[in-house]
Amino acid sequence: MKEIILTIDYELFLGEKTGTVKKCMIEPTAKLISFLKKNNSKMTVFWDILHYYLLLQYEKNFPELKDDRLLIEKQILDLAKSGHDIQLHLHPHWLDAQYENGRWIFQYDRFRLNKLTNEDKKDDINTIIGCISISKNLMENLIRSVNPDYKITAFRAGGYLIEPFNEISDSLIANGIKIDSSICSGLYNKNGIYSYDFRYYPLNQKYNFVTTPKIMVDQGNFIEIPITTIKLSLFRNIYYKFLRKIKYTSLENERKGLGVGYIHNNKQKTKIKRRFSILFVPQRGQFTTDSNFREKFNYMYKKAPEYSTMIIHPKLLNYHTLRILDDYLSTKKIHFISIKDFTH
Ligand SMILES: [Zn+2]
Repeated sequence: MKEIILTIDYELFLGEKTGTVKKCMIEPTAKLISFLKKNNSKMTVFWDILHYYLLLQYEKNFPELKDDRLLIEKQILDLAKSGHDIQLHLHPHWLDAQYENGRWIFQYDRFRLNKLTNEDKKDDINTIIGCISISKNLMENLIRSVNPDYKITAFRAGGYLIEPFNEISDSLIANGIKIDSSICSGLYNKNGIYSYDFRYYPLNQKYNFVTTPKIMVDQGNFIEIPITTIKLSLFRNIYYKFLRKIKYTSLENERKGLGVGYIHNNKQKTKIKRRFSILFVPQRGQFTTDSNFREKFNYMYKKAPEYSTMIIHPKLLNYHTLRILDDYLSTKKIHFISIKDFTH
């Protein structure tokens, strides 16, 4: 059995089609919770809190949004009561979202937290410090109703866009947040405003740092718990692409929304790049069941060291990946713990 840290990003799709709270958050998360119960596994839930913040703003005029808010609240409280760890996940572009004809319309100028202003205004959500402080208070006030000792200690940036870290570090410290889990060591994404480059970041499962998670500093005041990535050789990548194409043709059929990367990616890739896409695949892959399938996940599991960190998006869970998770938990190959369990 391996002890693995499980983190989930609890959120809607953030592209043209968000999917519904029920189908993309509540139902898949409920299934996951029931599997975790089988061997008393726990997880850290990175809650896209600005979505909830917007629901509170809009619910007076749109009763269906109040229903959404209540569903989320109930599930978050259930999670907290049963020992799961709820932590902060920020997608600041929610602050510019509009709700029209029953759907969310986004614009992405403020997709990165650093795009908010750096004025020292704790009660203005449009500043970095305000956004973190208001979100933290919202979460703590709610969750302390069932768990009086509850505290936010960890953060995951939306889209992994944590850099330049020094622009947000003071606001995190001011709110008692010392743990980050936004880095996917070895990965990079050259997708315009969504781009990140983690190619030369430490591959440790946990390390300390000060001004940037790129540089490990013993005794540094911040702790990084990166999302584990697994090295995949070119041969393996080709084999898995092939397997995917012939054996798992319907994996994406259950997808209920579209992400931002999805729109952007398809627009940007040239025909040639698409045809030879296998040559451009990254050398490492996230340790996840998201958009994954059994053979590839089995390999990742075999390679993942004890106390690796997995990421799962409930919105991406499907029949196949739920079955993989269920098998691993039922046969006790994996026991999941939360970041809170890991750092205490
Ligand atoms: Zn997210």
